[in-house]
Amino acid sequence: MAAAVMGSATLAQAAYIVVDTGHTPQRPGATGASGRVEYQYNLDLSGAVAHDLMALDDRVKRISVNGKDIALKERPQQAPDADFFISIHHDSMQQAWIDAGRQREFAGFSIFVSQLNPNYEQSLNCAKAIGENLLAAGEKPSLYHATPVPGENRPLIDQRLGIHRFDDLVVLKNATTPAVLVEAGVIVNPDEEKRLADPQTITKLAGAIAQAVHECNQKP
Ligand SMILES: [Zn+2]
Repeated sequence: MAAAVMGSATLAQAAYIVVDTGHTPQRPGATGASGRVEYQYNLDLSGAVAHDLMALDDRVKRISVNGKDIALKERPQQAPDADFFISIHHDSMQQAWIDAGRQREFAGFSIFVSQLNPNYEQSLNCAKAIGENLLAAGEKPSLYHATPVPGENRPLIDQRLGIHRFDDLVVLKNATTPAVLVEAGVIVNPDEEKRLADPQTITKLAGAIAQAVHECNQKP
């Protein structure tokens, strides 16, 4: 048994993963129902993802964790020799839906890929792995980004896995490596925000994401 475990550990390849924390302390993104800003949620979850990847023996470079501002297009250029780029975010929703008191109608994750990324197929492959692992962890895709209204209307590539095409996402189209952006959940929904702030949820989401990223970067 011990020999088998050691054998599989030896076969696994270390990957080099860029883990991007969405936004910056100065421009923190969405504001949760409680008033806590998106950057703080992104920092907690991306930190846990980085931790889990390193526990899988992957090499990790973290972006936007030093308190300094960094332009979107510079983020994927920090480690051009990496195998993969993942950007971690938490979601808002259309202001009109917030104004109409519909916050609790929207929950769940969304995954985005860009066809302008030179490694689109590999990006989609990893997006699918992440979606499968999030589903297996009991999460659900939000799907509302496909709503045909201005500001949404992101075509679904895979409805079951919550994967959308968003060609002009700056961090994805400017990456030379395969790249995926994950919206882990909807923090303007007060029920979901509470759940997303729970350390157990963060641990579960991070484990699901890190395992998928690790596995989809194993070369055949
Ligand atoms: Zn964001």
